[in-house]
Amino acid sequence: MIKEAKATLKETFGYDTFRPLQEDIIDQALKRKDALVIMPTGGGKSLCYQIPALLFDGLTVVVSPLISLMKDQVEQLREYDINAVHLNSSLSPEAYGYNRRQVLQGKAKLLYIAPETLLMDKTKDLLKDIKVELFAVDEAHCISEWGHDFRPDYRQLAEVRKELFPDATCMALTATATPRVRKDIMRTLEFGESEEFIASFDRPNLFLKIADKDDPTNQVLDFLYTRKNQSGIIYCTSRRQVDELYQELDDEGYSVKPYHAGLSDRDRAINQRKFIRDDIQIIVATIAFGMGINKPNVRFVMHYDMPQNIEQYYQQIGRAGRDGLRSDCVMLFSYADTQKIKYFINKKEGQEKEIAEKHLDDLLKFIESKKCRRVPLMKYFGEEYPKDECGMCDNCLSKDEDVEDFTLQAKKLLTCVKELEEGYGKTQVINVLRGSKAKKVLELEHDKLDSYGSGKEWSKDQWEQLSRMLVRQDYLSKGEYAVLQLEDKADAVLKGDENVYGTLDRTSTMLSDEEASR
Ligand code: ADP
Ligand code: ZN
Repeated sequence: MIKEAKATLKETFGYDTFRPLQEDIIDQALKRKDALVIMPTGGGKSLCYQIPALLFDGLTVVVSPLISLMKDQVEQLREYDINAVHLNSSLSPEAYGYNRRQVLQGKAKLLYIAPETLLMDKTKDLLKDIKVELFAVDEAHCISEWGHDFRPDYRQLAEVRKELFPDATCMALTATATPRVRKDIMRTLEFGESEEFIASFDRPNLFLKIADKDDPTNQVLDFLYTRKNQSGIIYCTSRRQVDELYQELDDEGYSVKPYHAGLSDRDRAINQRKFIRDDIQIIVATIAFGMGINKPNVRFVMHYDMPQNIEQYYQQIGRAGRDGLRSDCVMLFSYADTQKIKYFINKKEGQEKEIAEKHLDDLLKFIESKKCRRVPLMKYFGEEYPKDECGMCDNCLSKDEDVEDFTLQAKKLLTCVKELEEGYGKTQVINVLRGSKAKKVLELEHDKLDSYGSGKEWSKDQWEQLSRMLVRQDYLSKGEYAVLQLEDKADAVLKGDENVYGTLDRTSTMLSDEEASR
């Protein structure tokens, strides 16, 4: 069978060789075994189910949550003379009826369908006498509450599978899935004999940098100064921020357009097209921009505001350097932005809140890590980066440069935690250090402690950064209710046997000469 797959690759799609893993995945499907496929965007997931779909006699059902992408796929397949149709709420009754008949008469090889449409009774009616051989679940991370885009309809796909086509082989595909999400997908879809196929997530041509956000507009202008002819995306969190930054850059004479959900569909489409065709250089956008965009020569992705989680970060930087050439990804980071994210997290409830907190925590760990950026990034996706250093990130190039000795302040902080009997979170600890007259300090008589007022020389922000650093370096840990607790390592510092080194502030946005020459 795999021979026939190769022939189809060549004859129908015009490609000579399979991309990594494609052959194995197709082989698995042809053997009627379930598969979970994890491949970065652009890796070539679609062919993995399209080729088996052509080789099987019956129908292949493809669930996909994004109607616009579904339409593109169907149109592309039609250009290859493949009979593919789609069913979703956007179709006119005529188009719906036509597509339905193509399925009923056994003419369609692939049926793309939105999850909510698949769950409808009329769809179940349509499919009940159809021989479905392959059930492909695209964007499969939507199944898991631990993914970044949970969709409740996806949860019911397993039921549909059991009810309508229990004998069909299942292939779940996604570009981003942590080990936890992967387990969730396979469990929810009730995979039988199955295998996971995980392509590497590393994108070696992306230079990764995270800079302290202290003067963001000027940092952006500095960054752009040497990139006047390079195409790039700048992500902001809010529409207002997009508009403001767009205006600044426009005033500076850059060729730039904004993109966010507050613009009309028409303006969005125009701005996107201009960017893709290189009629403009820069697009300033919210998260709304980028889905399904395959522009090869995006030379930089800048995060004016920090992303919400690692998956989002990875997806967004992943839009750079599709042509394989070096591209720069710079994130501006500040703890103030973290507070904004926390504010929204605190409005959530229950498990949703817990998950959002975990996502933020993971992101902060990644940002604050002093290791090669690729180590924690790949680890997040369940992949072990095979080296200690990539040579293509800020941390690899700035080893030990501005490490300072923080023993004195560390000792003060650790002493304070001890005096508070490891029973309070960082706010109380910092208030005591700074000699605050906050109610909670006075009422608990913490103003009587030796530590009270011992750390007035530092701002709240500096103490916060230090406490994070001490957690990162395992002098402290966060217990239940975020209570700060001493770890074994803290003893040596308190006794004066060990010094504490680290960096609080991150370096500038500009790539250093060394960084730029990579
Ligand atoms: P994904 O769904 O993983 O984001 P796609 O399936 O859209 O990626 O594939 C990305 C691009 O790679 C498409 O243009 C596709 O035609 C191309 N492609 C896929 N497989 C091959 C291959 N074996 N050889 C050459 N090009 C391929
Ligand atoms: Zn590195």
